[in-house]
Amino acid sequence: MSKILVVGGAGYIGSHMVKQLSKSGRIVVVLDNLTTGFRDAARNGQLVIGDLADTALLERLFKEHEFSGVMHFAAASLVGESVQDPGKYYRNNVSNTLNLLDVMVRHCVKHFIFSSTAATFGEPEYVPIDEQHPQRPINPYGASKLMVERILQDYHAAHGLNSVCLRYFNASGADPEGELGECHDPETHLIPLILRAASERREYITVFGRDYPTEDGTCVRDYIHIEDLCSAHALALDALVKGDKQGALAYNLGNGQGYSVQQVINAVERVVAKDGRTLKVEEGRRRAGDPAILVADSRLIRYDLGWEPQYGDLECIISHAWAWEKGNE
Ligand code: UDP
Repeated sequence: MSKILVVGGAGYIGSHMVKQLSKSGRIVVVLDNLTTGFRDAARNGQLVIGDLADTALLERLFKEHEFSGVMHFAAASLVGESVQDPGKYYRNNVSNTLNLLDVMVRHCVKHFIFSSTAATFGEPEYVPIDEQHPQRPINPYGASKLMVERILQDYHAAHGLNSVCLRYFNASGADPEGELGECHDPETHLIPLILRAASERREYITVFGRDYPTEDGTCVRDYIHIEDLCSAHALALDALVKGDKQGALAYNLGNGQGYSVQQVINAVERVVAKDGRTLKVEEGRRRAGDPAILVADSRLIRYDLGWEPQYGDLECIISHAWAWEKGNE
């Protein structure tokens, strides 16, 4: 039976991926150092606690298991922190990934799926953003992910390592079965923060600016349900393992539909009203580094891999996240 290594499988996206893979009959080994992940979230896989910097551990892991592929979700991902402490980002996101890739090459494991990000594009020159859009990241986080994209091209040329980078737009929502959800500390993402305000774990939600050149003045983002995001990874790995795709590929991954901060707030209000909850909204200033509009053009992955989002509706995304939030109040 196919065995997959999921690095960072105790985190938000990784844990949903582990569940999806194990539900489809894969044996999943999770490697996670639990700095931001949770032991319990990795329960659908076989958890090994450790760090990618530990080459000896990686060697042991790859000797013990015959992996048909590796998915890599473990990264530091706070844009502001990356500006303050770039070394952490280049060490964690680039250097540690190199360790992993080198061990994969030594053990002839040739299939790799990588979490990349819309942040590799920097300030958009046009939207929706397709794969041809220039990649000029404006912070060390985006730069660290772009470096790995480049490394993967060179590892394909030198070592025949096949890879797919998926550039996420706004990953959101939660396991439709309610077992897993989003839990960051600190939490910086819009939807979980609004839901905390609705559940009274926070007093209010602050809108970061109403003076953007958008219809209602608030920023527009492309929110993609975590299950749809994971199904794209599963398709990408299948395509590599079956040999349908080869090379160092990259796809943009979003719903292709933008929603403004105000539209998200309105949708949350509708969802939580069913539980008699309301929301307090405060006005704030722009957050540094936020482009007005970020929307993905995801036609390429639909065409190439047959990916189809199942949970594109914003209220559905929010309902799943709300079910999880209520369970954790
Ligand atoms: N945002 C906001 N208030 C918050 C958190 C986020 O208005 O408390 C806005 C933020 O400025 C951005 C959008 O919500 O326009 C999505 O932000 P998030 O941090 O969720 O994701 P990002 O797009 O930065 O990856």
